[in-house]
Amino acid sequence: MKTGVVTDKRFMDHDMGAYHVESPHRIEVLNRMLEEDPPIAYLPIEPRPATDEEVGWVHEKGYIDLVRSTAGKTVPLDMDATAGPKTFATALLAAGGFLKSLDLIMDGTARNAFALVRPPGHHAEASQALGFCFFNNVAIGAEHLVRNHGLRRVLVVDWDLHHGNGTEHAFYARRDVMYFSTHQVPLYPGTGAARDFGAGDGLGFNLNVPLLAGKGDADYLHIFEKILGPVAAQFEPEFILVSAGFDIAAGDPLGGMAVTPAGFGLLTASLMAMAERTAADRLALVLEGGYDLRALRDSVREVLKTLAKRDSPAPSLCSGGDSPEALRVELEDPLRTFRRKWDIPAA
Ligand SMILES: [Zn+2]
Repeated sequence: MKTGVVTDKRFMDHDMGAYHVESPHRIEVLNRMLEEDPPIAYLPIEPRPATDEEVGWVHEKGYIDLVRSTAGKTVPLDMDATAGPKTFATALLAAGGFLKSLDLIMDGTARNAFALVRPPGHHAEASQALGFCFFNNVAIGAEHLVRNHGLRRVLVVDWDLHHGNGTEHAFYARRDVMYFSTHQVPLYPGTGAARDFGAGDGLGFNLNVPLLAGKGDADYLHIFEKILGPVAAQFEPEFILVSAGFDIAAGDPLGGMAVTPAGFGLLTASLMAMAERTAADRLALVLEGGYDLRALRDSVREVLKTLAKRDSPAPSLCSGGDSPEALRVELEDPLRTFRRKWDIPAA
């Protein structure tokens, strides 16, 4: 079984202007890499538009109609989200493409998948476009798995530089969709405190790990292996979704993190090992941020190579090394919160 890749030139149709970092070039460099020098033999997945009903699982009807009304025009919906003539169609295609990749994993056609789509989604709220995002692709995907595939536990891992406020809000009071986010602070959108641990039935199922700038491969791997790993082993997800943002890459113009392409491969391997334990290998990534085109291309390439490895390559537990002091101090607050619900051994 191959790794599925959602790819389509139409993801370049959404354009917020020549000087915007969330540009069509992001898809252009990825498509060119796949065409000229494909890192793996993958299953190409042609996207389909999401339906109103599917988008409506996460977004209010009035908001969907508002975005629809921008078709053929240029309309600023937020400081950081301008809808162009083809934005509505492209955003539907991004969400629908991701849903299609999930169906192909569920029916055994694809082993795992990466949806190389835009616009991104994790900032989009039920009734608001925010932070380059219009429809929340990963949240719509989680709803799809719960509603249409009957899954009872879905884990959403968000390694994007920014906190996925929209995804957090969508599932804040639910325990069937766990949200785990690492994000740089202080930074846009300002949400994502460790104390925001879910509410009601969902108390304990929303996990935020705010991080100061400067974190690299070993730091992220430490968080995945020593914190997320034990939590996932207890939550027992039946599917793992990833808001895969590459703005934590070294050199990204918006971020201060230093993850290398090899580091993204290690994070992917770590999630593959978790998916193997409880989710029958079911793992699907969807592109969020990432604005240094070279880092984006090289990192996506490494993620795809890892996804295609036959035996899920367990990242060495030691490769994170001893937790650096700076990270240890920053993790105290999240760990204190998380241990109210989850058993996380001292690292
Ligand atoms: Zn981001």
